[in-house]
Amino acid sequence: MAVNILLSGAKGRMGMSIQSIALEHGCEITCPIDIGDDPEEGIKRCDLVVDFSLREATLPLVKISASNFKPMVIGTTGHSREEKDEIIRLSQSIPIVWAGNFSTGVNLLYYLTEQASKVLDESSNFDPEVLEMHHRLKKDAPSGTAERLLEVIKNSRGLLDENITHGRVGMPGERRESEIGSHSIRGGDVVGDHTVMFAGVGERIELTHRASDRVIFAAGALRAAKWVLNQEPGLYSMQDVLGLQS
Ligand code: NAD
Repeated sequence: MAVNILLSGAKGRMGMSIQSIALEHGCEITCPIDIGDDPEEGIKRCDLVVDFSLREATLPLVKISASNFKPMVIGTTGHSREEKDEIIRLSQSIPIVWAGNFSTGVNLLYYLTEQASKVLDESSNFDPEVLEMHHRLKKDAPSGTAERLLEVIKNSRGLLDENITHGRVGMPGERRESEIGSHSIRGGDVVGDHTVMFAGVGERIELTHRASDRVIFAAGALRAAKWVLNQEPGLYSMQDVLGLQS
């Protein structure tokens, strides 16, 4: 039997992509909603809620999902620290898969970045920089995927948010000790490119993922949707869905 989904952001690029492949993944978008629609109207008919909308729309939707005990898959990016904390708190009552990027390749990139960051640690004198490029219509920066890559490097090296530098301009001076660079490029119709660079003296390693079709995110989100139905309340990542924990 098909999994019944309430999809928020149904008229957007991701929403359309999910709807185009839902049936072949054993899912039915029973309740497609967009700006101005009331999620309460259809939520009881659905098994779970999938959100690919706008940052401001996520938290109200998580509250409605939690009060109806419906699991969630969240793909929307760009949330504030306060919104993130509240979503994490609400995951105590429903299972939520929350990922800035649902592609299998990018989740492998997270894993490889963690491994590389451990080997090329601070004592080996490799400087990490994260580069991302997206289409000209993307509203938030850095991308959710780049944020996650920065977090992976930060955590593996025991660093803080203060160690991350977003862009450089003017006379920022020499690279700071323990710095992680972050750079966002916007233009054209680029679906999503991410490169993690470890620059040493005399050598440089680059790990790159390029997405050329949104369908990779849609397929990952639907895989997560089927997986989350069988989980206990809590917060999960796409790495949990793929069994890619290091
Ligand atoms: P989009 O702008 O094409 O679509 C967003 C849709 O959300 C629009 O149709 C808009 O009308 C709708 N919307 C706005 N406010 C709403 C509300 N209050 N309730 C319901 N719907 C509302 O954007 P997109 O490219 O489809 O991306 C959507 C989100 O998903 C973005 O945050 C983007 O960064 C993120 N994204 C995540 C992944 C991933 O793998 N996690 C991949 C691609 C995009």
